[in-house]
Amino acid sequence: MRGKVTGRSQGVPGVWDDGAVTPTTARTTAQTTAPRSATTLADLPLRDDLRGEVPYGAPQLHVPVVLNVNENPYPVAPEIVAEIASAVAQAAVGLNRYPDREFFDLRADLAAFLRTESGAELAPRQVWAANGSNEVMLHVLQAFGGPGRRALSFAPTYSMYPEYARDTLTTWVTGQRRDDFTLDVEHARAMVREHRPTVVLLASPNNPTGTALPPATVEAVLDEVAQLPHGAVVVVDEAYGEFRRAGTQSALDLLPDHPNLAVSRTMSKAFSLAGARVGYLAASEAFVDALRVVRLPYHLSAVTQAVARAALKHSATLLSTVAELRGRRDATVVWLRQQGFAVAESDANFVLFGGLEDRHAVWQGLLDRGVLIRETGPDGWLRVSIGTEPEMAAFRAALLDVLGRQEAPPEAPPEARQEARQGAVAEQ
Ligand code: PMP
Repeated sequence: MRGKVTGRSQGVPGVWDDGAVTPTTARTTAQTTAPRSATTLADLPLRDDLRGEVPYGAPQLHVPVVLNVNENPYPVAPEIVAEIASAVAQAAVGLNRYPDREFFDLRADLAAFLRTESGAELAPRQVWAANGSNEVMLHVLQAFGGPGRRALSFAPTYSMYPEYARDTLTTWVTGQRRDDFTLDVEHARAMVREHRPTVVLLASPNNPTGTALPPATVEAVLDEVAQLPHGAVVVVDEAYGEFRRAGTQSALDLLPDHPNLAVSRTMSKAFSLAGARVGYLAASEAFVDALRVVRLPYHLSAVTQAVARAALKHSATLLSTVAELRGRRDATVVWLRQQGFAVAESDANFVLFGGLEDRHAVWQGLLDRGVLIRETGPDGWLRVSIGTEPEMAAFRAALLDVLGRQEAPPEAPPEARQEARQGAVAEQ
């Protein structure tokens, strides 16, 4: 499997989503055969601030091993697929009518799920949902951002955040994470004081680093924004929350004391439902009411609501892959460290590893061997999503091959190392 890439996966002016990558044998999802219209963007009255911007562009390639967008590698079990199909069939009977605009049943099901998952006690009116957590967060920026207002986050972080800000004409401000990708509380407080944002976005676990934030850090940010004259909303984006390691706390615990806090989740990752496009958020009722003002009417289709509700009936089965993926994530961290890479601690279903002189060459080399990972994060780092065991074995073999290395032997347990050292001394 060989692939040739003509542009970086993101951020190249003039390079478009699927057009960004033109592998010689890998097939892109949307190859267009229609003749191009003579009109270009330059001929249209595009907003000035959108000129030169490119669409979100993680490559969608048909290669054997796809580990680039943090999906769950396991498809939904056939018996749950059958239930989802029957729920969709039922919904289809009523498609001549608009869907339930307030989707109370789905909100109640999501509240019940959060109670089981994290012990959070939430009324359905404290839950909101949309077409992916991307749309949930766009609603947040629509309601609380806007011209003359600022949204704050801490880099490196999720690449879509600046786009929500741009699309809502909100000024985007970033602080920096430390070298180990944790967040310095004093720096976070200082950024709030200096920039006086109305929205603070904190990903935990963070994408692309996998770093979870301790609740004390979130509380410090909440304390600091409480001192701003206009206040601010704080969103903890827990898209990968279900993958957190034992002992890592969810920010859901902080909701009862903070009406300006929201915790965002998604069914795209742990639930294996990225294709369904269902994200949701928990907050105070007042917070949710603000989002109800800006959403488009009937934004969540009857089909989406039916799919999500049918899936939530089987949340335990759907989430049964999480433990396995967590274990494989931890093993991947250990293996990458054994090979000498710098590896970020991860509470998510992906791992960021670094120390690469030419990360693009490594990324391309992996793609040439049929393994697609993500070229993201600071220079010298790459991110790999956790797949099935055969997929991870393919990734490991391809990585060693690209770097022209043999597998480093696993580190011996401490007692064995001690004995070996004593042996070495005796021989001298
Ligand atoms: N937040 C983070 C941190 C993410 O990484 C993603 C997906 N990559 C999302 C939100 C959006 O996920 P979705 O729209 O599929 O719910």
